[in-house]
Amino acid sequence: ISELSERINNLSESATLKMTKLGRELAAQGANIISLSVGEPDFNTPDHIKQAAKKALDENYTRYSPVPGYPELRKAIVQKLKQENGLDYDISQIVVSTGAKQSLSNAILCVINPGDEVIIPTPYWVSYSEMVKLAEGESVFINTSIESDFKITPQELENAITEKTRLFMFSSPCNPTGSVYSKEELAGLARVFEKHPQIYIISDEIYEHINFKSKHESIAQFDSIKDRVILINGFSKSYAMTGWRLGYLAASKEIAAANDKLQGQTTSGTCSIAQRAGIAAYEGGLESVLEMKKAFERRRTLVYNALKEIAEVKVNLPEGAFYFFPDVSAFFGRKDSNGNVIANSSDLALYLLNEAHVATVGGDSFGNNDCIRLSYAASDDQLTEALRRIKAALEKLV
Ligand code: PLP
Repeated sequence: ISELSERINNLSESATLKMTKLGRELAAQGANIISLSVGEPDFNTPDHIKQAAKKALDENYTRYSPVPGYPELRKAIVQKLKQENGLDYDISQIVVSTGAKQSLSNAILCVINPGDEVIIPTPYWVSYSEMVKLAEGESVFINTSIESDFKITPQELENAITEKTRLFMFSSPCNPTGSVYSKEELAGLARVFEKHPQIYIISDEIYEHINFKSKHESIAQFDSIKDRVILINGFSKSYAMTGWRLGYLAASKEIAAANDKLQGQTTSGTCSIAQRAGIAAYEGGLESVLEMKKAFERRRTLVYNALKEIAEVKVNLPEGAFYFFPDVSAFFGRKDSNGNVIANSSDLALYLLNEAHVATVGGDSFGNNDCIRLSYAASDDQLTEALRRIKAALEKLV
């Protein structure tokens, strides 16, 4: 019998991946499962990107790549950050990784010592707190609710900061809520960070292009704190490239060099073929991105209208990403037809999977136990049917 490390024993399984797995298992037994649990566009990678990957193979881009990424890709990222976001970076400030997930994990490992505090507004993307655990940091949560559109105020941020605070991390547009911070709201947070020069800020901008209200705003635009912002982005959501595993960070030269060193001892450079495809994605313009966004916007309206029809579900209209995070706490304490009590958000998600054959994710794994997360990266027909089933299942609870 092997003894596993405390590090791994203390780590939670990813709830989104777990629900997806459970859904797949039920589907394998013949159930007609509609999966709204995954954070993945349901589109195929655009053709010009696939062509670039095929060409890369033919041109023998099959060897180890430079640890921080091919210079051409890092240059394309620098240009993208300039043109789309108005941000100036040098190529030496960019490190390409195996998905934004690795960029996040690398960044945390580079700045966190055991016992350091990391402020995370809830709800947050499931992996944030687990990555902090792996780095032996302490997560400090700022709780929000649907009433404040799941966003924090500068005062709440200020109140959470202690001498031990070393890092703040958030996503905007946010997974799981779809909330988007405006420029003014980010400026308010930046003013707090100005007063606390020991704090790094991880700004996860992976959903930047799925923003229905306004143009994307990055907290890195504020020069007074830019050097401490670790900007995370990638290709998974904007270009439907989840399986390619391609993400990056942009940060100070010091942080970028630290990431390069860390990655050099762990994974080395990202898949050579995926990187060549990434160059084509950034050089190919935003046409396919805008098309996907249009479909997401239509589905957002569809799901919003359907959720509003369900009595006792509290829902807000998310400004970005492709998730709803409705408050379903009114159903807690009720029983299913077998007499089992639905005590929390995970119970409700499991109930919906078993009763309605719709896979969602309980909000507790995102740090908010009142809500569940629904991804609307599914076809209009699937969404209509899923919401019909969810409504019926919730109405059965007594
Ligand atoms: N950050 C957020 C907020 C996400 O939702 C995800 C994926 O679900 C990631 C990062 C990771 O993306 P990638 O596929 O680039 O690793």
